[in-house]
Amino acid sequence: MLWLLVLITVTWILALNKIPLLWSSLVIGGLLGVFTLQNELSGINLILWTFFLAVFIPLNLPALRRQIISRVMFGLMKKALPPMSQTEREALEAGTTWWDAELFSGQPDWKILQNLAPPKLTKEEQAFIDGPVETLCAMLDDWDITHKRCDLPPEVWDFIKKNKFCGMIIPKQYGGLDFSHFAHSEIVMKISSRSSTAAVTVMVPNSLGPAKLLLSYGTEEQKNHYLPRLATGEEMPCFALTGPHAGSDASAMPDTGIICRDTFEGKENVLGIRLNWEKRYITLGPVATVLGLAFKLYDPDHLIGEEENIGITVALIPTNTPGVSIGRRHFPLDSAFQNGPNWGKDVFIPMDWIIGGQEQVGNGWKMLMQSLATGRSISLPALSIGGGKFTCRNSGAYARIRKQFNRAIGEFEGIEEPLARMAGETYILDAARKITAAALDEGQKPSVISAIIKYELTERMRRIINDGMDIQGGSGICLGPRNFLGRLYQVIPVSITVEGANILTRTMMIFGQGAIRCHPYIQHEMSALHMDDTKEALKKFDELLFSHIGFFIHNFASGFWFGLTNARFSSVPGDPHTQRYYRQIARLSVGFALVTDYALLTLGGSLKIRERISGRFADVLSNLYLCSAVLKHYQDQGSQKEDLPLLHWACQHTIYRAQQSLLAVFWKLPLRPVVWLLRGLIFPLGKPYSPPSDRLIHETATILLNDSPARDRLTHGIYINENENDPTGKIEIAFKAVLAAAPVEKKLRQAQKQKKLPKGNIMKLIDEAIAHEIISKEDADLIAQAEKARLNAITVDDFAPEELT
Ligand SMILES: Cc1cc2nc3c(=O)[nH]c(=O)nc-3n(C[C@H](O)[C@H](O)[C@H](O)COP(=O)(O)OP(=O)(O)OC[C@H]3O[C@@H](n4cnc5c(N)ncnc54)[C@H](O)[C@@H]3O)c2cc1C
Repeated sequence: MLWLLVLITVTWILALNKIPLLWSSLVIGGLLGVFTLQNELSGINLILWTFFLAVFIPLNLPALRRQIISRVMFGLMKKALPPMSQTEREALEAGTTWWDAELFSGQPDWKILQNLAPPKLTKEEQAFIDGPVETLCAMLDDWDITHKRCDLPPEVWDFIKKNKFCGMIIPKQYGGLDFSHFAHSEIVMKISSRSSTAAVTVMVPNSLGPAKLLLSYGTEEQKNHYLPRLATGEEMPCFALTGPHAGSDASAMPDTGIICRDTFEGKENVLGIRLNWEKRYITLGPVATVLGLAFKLYDPDHLIGEEENIGITVALIPTNTPGVSIGRRHFPLDSAFQNGPNWGKDVFIPMDWIIGGQEQVGNGWKMLMQSLATGRSISLPALSIGGGKFTCRNSGAYARIRKQFNRAIGEFEGIEEPLARMAGETYILDAARKITAAALDEGQKPSVISAIIKYELTERMRRIINDGMDIQGGSGICLGPRNFLGRLYQVIPVSITVEGANILTRTMMIFGQGAIRCHPYIQHEMSALHMDDTKEALKKFDELLFSHIGFFIHNFASGFWFGLTNARFSSVPGDPHTQRYYRQIARLSVGFALVTDYALLTLGGSLKIRERISGRFADVLSNLYLCSAVLKHYQDQGSQKEDLPLLHWACQHTIYRAQQSLLAVFWKLPLRPVVWLLRGLIFPLGKPYSPPSDRLIHETATILLNDSPARDRLTHGIYINENENDPTGKIEIAFKAVLAAAPVEKKLRQAQKQKKLPKGNIMKLIDEAIAHEIISKEDADLIAQAEKARLNAITVDDFAPEELT
């Protein structure tokens, strides 16, 4: 038994240290040899030798193992591989992998994250934010936009166009602003803290749409014609993919284009496409002058080649083309951005209206999927963090201003919980937004990460705003020019639904794509299975399979080691505040990698439809990504001591959620005894991580209740004003006035405790307090100013009945 224990321990150490197979075989064989010399060749000794020779000889002889192991596995895996459509393959192959692949590997290389330069604005970008963006924000009156006009005012449209807000991603040579991804994100974030209508209007032309597609795939002629006009708003773009029968499954669109010849602009026999389509929900559609259209292209008469069913293609169509119907509006949850349906009936377009020309027929889906990774990483995350920072700053201040039971409501433990969640989640959102934008600015196009941050940031923004609404009480509910949060609350589902509806994104895309793209072996193994040359395929597959098995065994060994030691001996960056979180990520990442392989092995292709499992896997990966982002963000911001509650809340919350999600994956995995073994291996001493403690909740909430550098850092980049007639200006003024009067209130309460003043509402005791020289006249003025500002901030709108009919 002792020998067996020694053997297992040595094997474990070899696996932990990734000792190559040949060396490991020699060490294990050597150990057995020593054992045999000390004992006779019988019993257990004989069994061990038989096992060793049967396993290690074929493993070390590739030609042999290929025939007896890999060939069988090759056949089994080829059969188990679910069929994959062209569109699925193109979606899977889009973009790049980055930190997501490190987390999938079970051994994140921290240098990759450490070496990422913090995102920075150029002088020109900063000047644009301080100039035109600030001016635009000051021009926006959300109540006027959403309630009275149901549109942006004409002067705002003009300002947006003149200042090239629609040309942020267009290079200077085409007359655009050529801003970085980070600048783009900062701009959308700031505008969204003022008006979601304006933010969406600016966001869409800079996201997935005509400009982005032209830049990557357009012909020079198309770029020279459209880009300068798009940059100045002379052309207003929209992009139409979705229709009544093709929502989340956009590739199922029934819209068709048939290649044919017809007369066009007086010329006869022009080669082109006859289009028929029906689209809906198209943002900017009602005001668009150029429509980016996705349709399925067919060539029944073989006018351009052999193929009849060419595939999804995208074209740019001026909206005044005969047969195009556009202009009607949808009404998306009281939001006033332009959105509507459009149709085309027998619209004839020449071939050179296809983005990229005839060369790009059938490449539409690939083009869209490739472009999605960057657009989705910027727009909605920026919109979400704008909402998060805005709610933290204003509803946080409201919790300090609003009094009930003679105290600021923010002082109640019940309110501290949503306050802490708002602050902690906003810190997470900002961290994820920034490191993702920085990665994009370094040339990454991380498709899985774009899905993670689209899903996580919009979901977390939803929770932040919900918490804000609870804190606002009736003042969040009664709409009117004074209500700063109600409209934001109403439009939450827009972000949840667009650019990949959230349920689908979580349960189908993040892990579904991640397991193939980010896993160190799966995609290569799949490629080997599809190779034409069977001999070469088997050779390649054999190498990959055995590296994959080695990877699994190493994760098995290190999962248990990290579980026993809580990864205490793992080498990580960071300072005494952050190192434990780096280690926790390392530990959970190994667990995640191990369980992923087990799920892939036991469930194979059926994982594609086991959305409850893949959703939970997605939660593990997402929370590990967010926690990594938080650590980097804290460091990039100079490891500020005042931000420690935010750092701890964010890390503890994400690590806890990753742990719980990983545990929840175990519920659904097959072969229960093996699952229990795996669980015991990864969590040998039970659940190690807990959610933020009550004390931490208190410290985190306190950040929103005081005027401090930590609060300013947390809400940096949104529009802030001190105009007493502005809905958030009033809050800013009242917050400062209430804080200035706080020491005076304290004096009054102390006097009550010492029985120098009677019990009751302190506001009614001011004169008595002055008379007893408990406070000065100046103190009383501070109290009066605070009360006036408080009243102005908590007042809600009312209307004459006819105003609402
Ligand atoms: C305000 C607004 C603006 C938009 N702008 C544009 C635009 O400019 N251009 C454009 O082309 N489109 C646009 N869209 C369309 C948007 O992308 C779609 O609404 C989205 O793709 C979802 O499609 P759907 O609304 O038909 O919902 P459905 O596809 O019917 O989905 C309904 C629900 O089912 C879930 N679901 C679907 N399939 C699965 C699955 N396999 N697993 C789990 N859950 C699933 C979804 O997550 C969702 O919760 C816009 C939509 C809105 C509301």
